[in-house]
Amino acid sequence: MTLFEKIINRQVPAEIVWENEECLAFRDIHPQAPVHILVIPKKNISHIGAVQEEDAVLLGKLLLAATQIAKKEGIAKTGFRLVINCGSDGGETVPHLHIHVLGGRALQWPPG
Ligand code: 5GP
Repeated sequence: MTLFEKIINRQVPAEIVWENEECLAFRDIHPQAPVHILVIPKKNISHIGAVQEEDAVLLGKLLLAATQIAKKEGIAKTGFRLVINCGSDGGETVPHLHIHVLGGRALQWPPG
């Protein structure tokens, strides 16, 4: 079981900011910006490269949730970034699909 599945099951504590039947959002334990939230599906999908056609609606819901959370956190007007790391070169460290919602400061580009 991955760390994020344990967070979904409440076996590992996290500061949960939003939840519905299919998705969960919680604050990153090592925030890289004043606002750093992870939005995840409760369905076990290891990375964005593993999604199937049947996940299309779920992916849309995750993106909608991420933008709504950005509004709720007060970073929508100043701008924010959504990041999905995939695999080792992409910097993915937890093998459960997650969208990083980052904001509250000016973010640099390109990423390192
Ligand atoms: P990745 O590097 O896979 O794209 O992102 C995984 C994220 O999970 C990292 O930003 C990391 O700080 C976060 N993370 C790792 N362990 C925990 C934890 O136990 N609790 C929370 N809330 N976040 C975690």
